[in-house]
Amino acid sequence: MEHRDFQFDVVVIGGGPAGVMAAGRAAEKGARVALVEKNEQIGRKLAMTGNGRCNITQAEFDDQKLIEKYGKNGKFLLSSLSAFGVRRIVDFFEKRGLKLKTEKTGKIFPANDKAADVIKVLYRYLHDNGVTTLFGNEVVDIEFEGNMISKIILKRGEITARNYVIATGGKSYPHTGSTGKGYDWAQKVGHAVKSPSPALVPIQAHNSWLEKAQGISLGGVELNVYLDGKKKFSQIGDMIFTHFGISGPVVLNISKSVGDLLEKGEVKILVDIKPGLSVEKLDEVLQNEFRSSAKKLANSLGDFYAPKLWELLLHITKLDAEKHASRISREERKALVKVSKGLEIEVDSLLGFERAMVTSGGVSVREVDSKTMRSKKIDNLFFAGEVLDIEGPTGGYNLQICWSTGFTAGENAAVGK
Ligand SMILES: Cc1cc2nc3c(=O)[nH]c(=O)nc-3n(C[C@H](O)[C@H](O)[C@H](O)COP(=O)(O)OP(=O)(O)OC[C@H]3O[C@@H](n4cnc5c(N)ncnc54)[C@H](O)[C@@H]3O)c2cc1C
Repeated sequence: MEHRDFQFDVVVIGGGPAGVMAAGRAAEKGARVALVEKNEQIGRKLAMTGNGRCNITQAEFDDQKLIEKYGKNGKFLLSSLSAFGVRRIVDFFEKRGLKLKTEKTGKIFPANDKAADVIKVLYRYLHDNGVTTLFGNEVVDIEFEGNMISKIILKRGEITARNYVIATGGKSYPHTGSTGKGYDWAQKVGHAVKSPSPALVPIQAHNSWLEKAQGISLGGVELNVYLDGKKKFSQIGDMIFTHFGISGPVVLNISKSVGDLLEKGEVKILVDIKPGLSVEKLDEVLQNEFRSSAKKLANSLGDFYAPKLWELLLHITKLDAEKHASRISREERKALVKVSKGLEIEVDSLLGFERAMVTSGGVSVREVDSKTMRSKKIDNLFFAGEVLDIEGPTGGYNLQICWSTGFTAGENAAVGK
């Protein structure tokens, strides 16, 4: 077909961060671009990120160090990070008037904590570069002939383009629009897709005391994960108890590995609430505290543990809050030390895609050119964002995948072959 036979140079499917970046960049390079999004607006999931604050990226400016966070597929990101990495996305937003701030953890947010303002900048990027936006219209199928996509079928109408970008996201939080359609199309055109599973997802547990623990958050605790009584790994971070189990950054980050272990046997997590103190040291500290204390146990423990936490520990150990600390027996103290150094969580399962921040699995990166995001199977097809088989931990790493791969897909889809 001649250039003029196509309605657009580039059609991008999916108005999440990856798709918007791809569409904006392709248009900036001079291509005639359409962005198709089934919602009436872009970035429905983006609006929810970072609890509505949007953790845009992570302040790790060394790409080699950054890719270590993405596990074995991290290398795939190197080229797109060098084209459009952390520095470039920070500049992108700041040049467009959005002030950013970096928190102690390295997480970068809009200074005013408003994800909505990130989305406003993205709308402007589309508008200023003349992207045709087809919102409230769903792509229902993709047709291909040989190694080329020939057209895409919408709920209303069809479109042809020289190049196509699939940026439909994963399967998590499906009510935002990410239902995993991109995986089906990729498979249909011959791509290998690693079976999607929920990642960065809260963990469900069945301890009887969970109701009492709800809302307690613990900072800098160590989670020790056991399979059938054998320790498998541990990780330190912040967590929170919820009505169903546990959540918070460290829980989300270990969830994928916990999910793998659950397929093999019984999983328990022992939370070390005082990882800085050995069992002996903690025992000594408590002993010294209790020995000379004129306080009741409740008041004495209040100096060591957060308010709701000591109540929980007393509930679990069945110790009497009213008892004088100086009258606590050795066994009673040992029980407190034991639960502080290994609060046992009996794991049931992971919550599903409904509550997973990202999807693990997706389009195999081995079949996508990392320099261009072009499919190695279909000449006029590109992929960007979470649809690819790559994910990172919490902390802005997942949005960075979208910015970098979206930019790279847009840049290369614009120039064509
Ligand atoms: C609660 C929550 C908080 C998060 N917080 C953070 C954070 O702070 N930092 C971070 O880095 N990551 C965070 N993430 C992860 C991050 O949101 C995702 O990695 C990111 O949104 C993926 O972007 P994407 O563009 O690939 O896909 P998506 O954002 O999923 O966008 C895909 C778009 O494609 C559209 N679409 C799908 N199918 C079709 C179709 N057939 N036709 C037309 N349109 C279609 C969808 O409607 C959707 O708008 C969070 C995720 C969640 C759920």
